[in-house]
Amino acid sequence: MKKYDFIIVGAGPSGIFTAFELLKNEKNLKILMIEKGRSIKKRICPKRTNHSCVNCVPCNITTGFSGAGAFSDGKLSINEHGEVGGNLIDYLGKKEFGEILKYTDDIYINFGADQKVYGLERNGESELIRKRAIECNLKLIESGVRHLGTEKAFEIYTKLQEYLTEKGVEILFETPVTEFIIEENIAKGVETKDSKYYADKIVVSAGREGCSWLNHMCSKNKIKTESGVVDIGVRVECDSTITQKVDEVSYESKLINYTKTFDDKVRTFCWNPRGEVSEERYDKNLALANGHSYKDEKLKTHNTNLALLVSKKFTEPFKTPIEYGRHIARLANMLSGGKVLVQTYGDFKRGRRTTQQRLDRNNTQPTLKDAVAGDLSLVLPYRIMLDIKETIEALDHLMPGFAGDGTLIYGVEVKFYSNKIKLSKNFETSIKNLYALGDGAGITRGLMQASMNGVAFARNLKSN
Ligand SMILES: Cc1cc2nc3c(=O)[nH]c(=O)nc-3n(C[C@H](O)[C@H](O)[C@H](O)COP(=O)(O)OP(=O)(O)OC[C@H]3O[C@@H](n4cnc5c(N)ncnc54)[C@H](O)[C@@H]3O)c2cc1C
Repeated sequence: MKKYDFIIVGAGPSGIFTAFELLKNEKNLKILMIEKGRSIKKRICPKRTNHSCVNCVPCNITTGFSGAGAFSDGKLSINEHGEVGGNLIDYLGKKEFGEILKYTDDIYINFGADQKVYGLERNGESELIRKRAIECNLKLIESGVRHLGTEKAFEIYTKLQEYLTEKGVEILFETPVTEFIIEENIAKGVETKDSKYYADKIVVSAGREGCSWLNHMCSKNKIKTESGVVDIGVRVECDSTITQKVDEVSYESKLINYTKTFDDKVRTFCWNPRGEVSEERYDKNLALANGHSYKDEKLKTHNTNLALLVSKKFTEPFKTPIEYGRHIARLANMLSGGKVLVQTYGDFKRGRRTTQQRLDRNNTQPTLKDAVAGDLSLVLPYRIMLDIKETIEALDHLMPGFAGDGTLIYGVEVKFYSNKIKLSKNFETSIKNLYALGDGAGITRGLMQASMNGVAFARNLKSN
């Protein structure tokens, strides 16, 4: 029986940076990474060429080396206050967070990331946007963005895979972990369909893709969790001239609206100037809206897209926010024949279905070509609909025309990071030697904090 020092479940950014930093501290460690998706070079999404999803199992967009990161837009959020991309600062404190942010960012630069950080300049234009945001009660979060772009992100993670392999990390691809091996409350290893693997420490960095499996593992093994937040919303797409001024100033604006009627928190997320709306697949057949943009001028579109996400925290006795989010997504898929729904904002406001005919004559044409024209009011709960409407109207003050009839809304976009596992300061679960990191643990929500989480885990371990 071969035994490892560490087993890392999931080769997304949090898993990758865990291995990277562990090896930096101790070169001879025996590390096994087990990933249910493919190696980076085999991650080919057929939809990129034929514009139609063929339901790869597992999905090449969300699984494989670099996790949800490889095909992602590759926007690294640089925010030393920890306001963007997760709650890692709650575990590290401000000083350590700032230090690990700089360290991790430098690794990305060393592996080829662009030196430029967008969105931090202050000038007359940016002050005007701040003023306008304040006037309509939107909170503007100032954060820098290092934009890798989809192509560059792929290149950087390819180099990271090669680096880890050269350093002796064993990586098993196309191998989902099915069970944890736990004896007397101590983690000993993991099981896959065909084998058992043992290690001193098990790190689970399974991302949003692994949320429902991890959720199941938690209840089966009595791993302590707490009720988390679920983010449900839509992706909005408009002509890029509408957002142009804001885009020029802040690159990727992060705005928060506490809604008038319900005082719910709605935030803008993953803002893609001249980008395209994409579909992501969860649980093999659940189609969700997402978006990205290319750095290459030739691949840019005339539209801008961004997500509007409503954060909902449930209280007792409700304990399954992920299931709630999935249920809404399933409803949207049911109406659209398993595709993402699209509706014009004009129809959304008037409470009527968008027909293909009305969509064809719309000013703004969808960049997600196989989205199905439909009616999101048959999917979203009233409270979420109103939260979104009030936020679009507030954003219209900042970007006149945003609430125009031709703006498109795609549904639904759901973030399944709500499975919050109870963790110690060094990310250990209630089972000894079993650690949980990244989006799947409910700590992070973006590439930078997920990567930092891996670094922080390896460092804390060393200092203990
Ligand atoms: C389309 C898209 C665009 C995005 N754009 C951005 C962006 O521009 N900027 C940003 O900051 N963030 C972005 N994100 C989010 C970002 O990609 C994630 O926050 C980040 O990848 C989380 O890292 P992670 O390591 O926690 O999990 P993941 O990257 O999700 O990796 C988890 C890995 O675990 C594997 N896994 C799951 N279960 C198992 C199992 N049972 N056995 C073995 N392996 C398993 C999965 O296959 C996956 O590869 C985007 C996400 C998507 C989907």
